[in-house]
Amino acid sequence: MEDWQKQMQDQVDTLEKLEQYVNLAPEEKEAIRSLDTKWGTTPHMAGLMDKNDPACPIRRQVIPSLKENENVHGIEDYLIWKENRDTDDVRPDAIARHYKDRIAFTVTDICANYCRHCFRKEVVVSRELKLRLDLAEGIEWIRDHREIRDVLITGGDPFLLSDDKIEYLIAKIREIPHVQMIRFGTRTPIALPQRITPGLKKVLSGFHRVPIWINTQCNHPRELSDETARAVYDLLSCGVNVGNQMVLLKGINDDVDTFRELHLKLLAFRIRPYYVFYCEPAPGIDHFRTPVEKGAELIRDALRGHTTGLAQPMYVVATRIGKIPLMPDYYMVDKDDKEYTLRNYKGELTRTPTIPE
Ligand SMILES: *Cc1c(COP(=O)(O)O)cnc(C)c1O
Ligand code: SF4
Repeated sequence: MEDWQKQMQDQVDTLEKLEQYVNLAPEEKEAIRSLDTKWGTTPHMAGLMDKNDPACPIRRQVIPSLKENENVHGIEDYLIWKENRDTDDVRPDAIARHYKDRIAFTVTDICANYCRHCFRKEVVVSRELKLRLDLAEGIEWIRDHREIRDVLITGGDPFLLSDDKIEYLIAKIREIPHVQMIRFGTRTPIALPQRITPGLKKVLSGFHRVPIWINTQCNHPRELSDETARAVYDLLSCGVNVGNQMVLLKGINDDVDTFRELHLKLLAFRIRPYYVFYCEPAPGIDHFRTPVEKGAELIRDALRGHTTGLAQPMYVVATRIGKIPLMPDYYMVDKDDKEYTLRNYKGELTRTPTIPE
């Protein structure tokens, strides 16, 4: 058995196992005992938790909370609504489509770390929504739709499939002439870095017409371990780029210092910040959500101008009509026929001439 399989076999998913890593607060114990929900993480991730602080950013992402019983703003049957599953446009369950040229292809409902804030929780965590995740059917659909040039393989966590299954997926999708790129969304570089094995590297590496890109999800600097640094380097050495999709989470990463530290540390780990997502209105996760403006304000106050341009993610609200970017809008002060007045991150003003069309 490989290390990563051992990590999965030893999933920290009972109160007794979790108590080997942390001193649980009474509310945490009560939530674990009373909520009927799938939860758990890897020994690796549990080892990064703060032993004594229930507000630890990793604990809050992993350990169920009684607040999950509350739901004021969340939308019931969220995924059906969000992924337009109630419309006439019939597709395989595994295919979610918001755009003409690319799709999200769900290949598994298993994760290494069951994030409490997951917007796909109805499939992955509560498991109320049963989807038929048939790989061959999804591949066939992609083959029949010549406008699809970008296939985003997602889950669950697609890197929990065996090397053979991942190899099969890549090979079959690469055979399709109109596909120009394959992406994987996987939290394994963070939650299960042991997954990046020599066997998987062999599957991913090699020069090919159709490149592979990866986005992972890291929400707090504390998640970035030495093992993750190694896993990312190994992926890059296979010719696979690694980006990050952070989820904006109240009390976890919605302050200027944490937000900046995370983005700088990502770059130091060779991970390129790609998106910051607004925490979607799935039910039972109100306690993780901030006002919508918050992400744009954080980019304004922590990143833009303050530090390296490569550290700048795009802030997006993912909706049923696609992802909508929100920019911090402080920089355009005025414009007339002659010139624009622009403001920088320090509040200083400057001008640039307007060129008529
Ligand atoms: C997020 C998403 C994509 C990929 O979007 P990019 O902005 O290209 O990263 C594609 N399809 C669906 C359904 C998505 O939710
Ligand atoms: S890894 Fe992704 S799919 Fe899995 S629980 Fe976390 S957010 Fe949801």
